Amino acid sequence: MPAAKSMAVKSQHVPPIAGGSIGHCRRALLVWYEANSRDLPWRRTSDPYAIWLSEIMLQQTRVNAVLEHYKIFLERFPDISALAAASQDDALAAWSGLGYYRRARMLHQCAREIVGHYSGYFPQTSEALRELPGIGRYTAAAIASIAFGEPAAVVDGNVERVLQRLAGRVLTAKQSWQRAQELLPPSHPGDFNQAMMELGATVCRPREPRCIICPIRQWCRAQGEIPRPNTAARLTKKQIWCALDRRDGQVRMVRRPKTASLMAGMWELPQWTELPHALAQEAHWRTFRHSITVTDYTIHVLRNWAHKGSAPRPRGNWIAIDQIPTLPITGLTRKILKADGII
Ligand code: SF4
Repeated sequence: MPAAKSMAVKSQHVPPIAGGSIGHCRRALLVWYEANSRDLPWRRTSDPYAIWLSEIMLQQTRVNAVLEHYKIFLERFPDISALAAASQDDALAAWSGLGYYRRARMLHQCAREIVGHYSGYFPQTSEALRELPGIGRYTAAAIASIAFGEPAAVVDGNVERVLQRLAGRVLTAKQSWQRAQELLPPSHPGDFNQAMMELGATVCRPREPRCIICPIRQWCRAQGEIPRPNTAARLTKKQIWCALDRRDGQVRMVRRPKTASLMAGMWELPQWTELPHALAQEAHWRTFRHSITVTDYTIHVLRNWAHKGSAPRPRGNWIAIDQIPTLPITGLTRKILKADGII
């Protein structure tokens, strides 16, 4: 398909996860996280104090900026008792350079409350954690899942983007939290939450998602297209013809340029925006609809096109059918190959 920047939203209904088993999707993400996650100091601990500190510092602040301050703060206040015993000025001094000083004031206030009301032990449920100063829904779920194994999903900006692309449409905040909770496995919820955030930060990036290396591409409806609010009223219509040619257990496919702004390096069927009408009619097999940005595409799929003498020759490579599941293919191509029973 032509490079696309967004995908139109068709309804408020959130479709079930694409691509089959949710269990396989969870496992694929966890295996990827285990092998690819960045080695960050707060991921080497299950101490709720250290996890809480990292979550507060990471709000509105980039990882690289947090790393040094996190180390210094923990050296100065190694546990919650040390922080609660310090003056607010000392806490602010240790926070110096991170900005958004309200976070440091709330941190200090929260430490005093945990020491004063909970004998220095963090409450172990997200519900109880949310009662504490400076701890909202996201932070409470992050601490409860990572430190205490509570199956409470987190939704930050990165997770929300992954969820919307998986669903192929814009989700309301409520739908995002619901979908995150549905996806969360009952075991290893902390790892899974961190894996979703890591995927959003390093692979499913805002502008150039790296779908080609994405471990959950198979379950993603958008595959690089960015859901946007409903633009149906402004849709323009275009037609595309693509060739579905088979030969000796192979299908002819084309790889998108590695420099394409979206779906770079992904495989699709050879296609044209114009073809002689009579020839196209003769080879016509089926018609599909696909909406991208403000364009509503009608895709005419032609069969055995390569064998028409005077027709333009499709570009591409012959790909063995049993190799296709291992390749990154576009969502439209998947739809067409599935309709023909090829995958
Ligand atoms: S396939 Fe692409 S758009 Fe979908 S979740 Fe993975 S990186 Fe994001």
